[in-house]
Amino acid sequence: MQPQFFNVINDELRGGEKNHTVTDPRTEDELWPCPIATTADFEDAVAAAQAAFETWSKTTVAERQALLVKMAENIKQNAEELAGILAKETGKSKILADIDVGAAIAQSLYYSKNGLEDEVQFEDDNVKVIATHVPIGVVGAICPWNFPLILSNIKVVSSLVTGNCVIVKPSPFTPYAVMKWVELSRGIFPPGVFQVLNGGADLGALMTLHPGIGKISFTGTIATGKRVMASCAKTLKKVTLELAGNDACIVLPDADLSKAVPSIASGGFFNAGQVCVASKRIYVHESIYDDFLDRLVKEVESGYKIQEDHSAPSVFGPVDNRMQYDVVRGIIEDCKRNGYNIVTGGETEGVTGKGFWLPPTIVSRPPEDSVLVQEEQFGPVLPVLSWSDEDDVVKRANLANAGLGASVYSSDLKEAERVARRLEAGSVWINQSERPNFGAYFSGLKDSGFGGEMGKQGLLSYSYTKCLHIPKN
Ligand code: NAD
Repeated sequence: MQPQFFNVINDELRGGEKNHTVTDPRTEDELWPCPIATTADFEDAVAAAQAAFETWSKTTVAERQALLVKMAENIKQNAEELAGILAKETGKSKILADIDVGAAIAQSLYYSKNGLEDEVQFEDDNVKVIATHVPIGVVGAICPWNFPLILSNIKVVSSLVTGNCVIVKPSPFTPYAVMKWVELSRGIFPPGVFQVLNGGADLGALMTLHPGIGKISFTGTIATGKRVMASCAKTLKKVTLELAGNDACIVLPDADLSKAVPSIASGGFFNAGQVCVASKRIYVHESIYDDFLDRLVKEVESGYKIQEDHSAPSVFGPVDNRMQYDVVRGIIEDCKRNGYNIVTGGETEGVTGKGFWLPPTIVSRPPEDSVLVQEEQFGPVLPVLSWSDEDDVVKRANLANAGLGASVYSSDLKEAERVARRLEAGSVWINQSERPNFGAYFSGLKDSGFGGEMGKQGLLSYSYTKCLHIPKN
C-alpha cells in the first residue's frame, strides 16, 4: 500500500490541496504525494506552539527527558518503516538508512540523560550568582536533505529538552521520513510541542520572519544561511547556522597507510561524499604520495562500487537529487575540460540506465585554485594533492571562506595534535574520518556557520541564561 503523509499541526494530521512528489534518486521514479503546508497551516502551527509553550516551558528537565525516552522507543518500534521510507527518498542503501534511524534513536537517548542544569557562576562571602537556563519559545528547525532524520533530530531534541516547542521543516527533497516520524510521535508530547510542515524556500522564509518564532536553527548552504540570518535580524531572532564545509585532510609522512587509507576513503565517499564534514581535500606528504594514491584508488574501486540494488551492503549510493547531481557533474566536467588527471571514475553520462548515479572519482593533483579544491563538491569526487612544507600545507588547508571540519593522520598522536591545533576548523579528527559526536560541540568557523549544536554548548543556544543574584546576609 502507498504510504500517506501529512503536516502535523497541534497533533492533528492535515492534508492539503497542493502536493508535491520526490524523485527516487536510484530510479528517477516519482514517489508519493506529500501535502505542501499553506500560510494558514503555518499560522495555525505557530499559534498551537505558542499556546503549548505556556505549560511545556514550565515542565522540569527530568519530565522532558522521560518523554525523550518514549520518543526514542517509538522510533525504535517504527524503525523498519522509517528506514524504508528514508531509503526511497534519499536513495540510501538499507544499511545507510538504518544508520540514520539508529543515530536518531541514540541521539534522543543521549539527550534524555544530558540536559542543562543550574550552575553557580560566582560566589563570595556576600553573594551567590546562580545561572539558570530558560527556554526561548518556539523554535523553527530548517533542515537539509543529506541525513534527514539525524539532522532534524538534533534540532528537535535540543529544543525539547530545553523546554522549547519546535516546528520542523524538512528539505523538500526529503520530507517523507521526517513527516512520518512526527506523525508517529503524536501523543508523546502535549499537542503543539512537536510539529512538522512540508514546504520549500517560501515556507522557510516565512519561518525566519514570523514574530511568533523565537529561534531558527538552520542547516544548509552558506548562501541560504546568509539569507536566513538577514531575515532573522528583522525580529532579532536567535539563530544557529550549520553551513557547508570544505574539509582538509592532512596525511603526515609517518601515517600508517594500512589504516589511514580505508579511513580516508570512508571520509570522502561515505554516502557518496554527501556529508557536511566529508574529507573534501586530501593533502598527502610528497614522500608517500604515489603509494597513498595507489592504495586509495584500489580501496575505492573495491569498496565503493555502484550497486543499484538498495539491499546491497554498501555505504555508497546515488546523488540525492537532480540539482546536486548537476552540480557534481559540472565539477567533474570542469576537471575533464582542464585536463586534470582523473585516476578513477570520471564518467558523467549513462553511468547506469537511470538515476542520479556518479562513480567514485579521484583527481590527482588538480591546481589549488581549481573549482574542485576551492568549492564544496558535496558528492563523489575527491582531489588528492601533495605537500612537502608544513607551513605551506596549513596555509592551503585553512580557507578564507570555510572552516567546518578537518582531519590529520600520523603515527605520532602528539605530532597530529600539534598540526590539528593549527587548523582553522570547528572540529578536527585525528586518525579517523569526520563523524560528529552527540556530546561534542559541533560548529563551523568563518563562513561554515554561526553558533553551533550538540553538547552542553549546543543546548545553551536553545536557552536564555538568566542569572539570580542571591545575597548571603
Ligand atoms: P539549502 O540551503 O538549499 O536548503 C536548506 C533548507 O533551507 C531547506 O529546507 C530549504 O527548503 C530551506 N530554504 C531554502 N531557502 C530558504 C530561505 N530563503 N529561507 C529559509 N529557508 C530556506 O541546503 P541543502 O542543499 O538542503 O543542504 C546541503 C548543504 O548543507 C551542503 O552545503 C552541506 O554542507 C550543508 N550541511 C551542513 C551541515 C552542518 O552541520 N554544518 C550538515 C549537513 C549539511
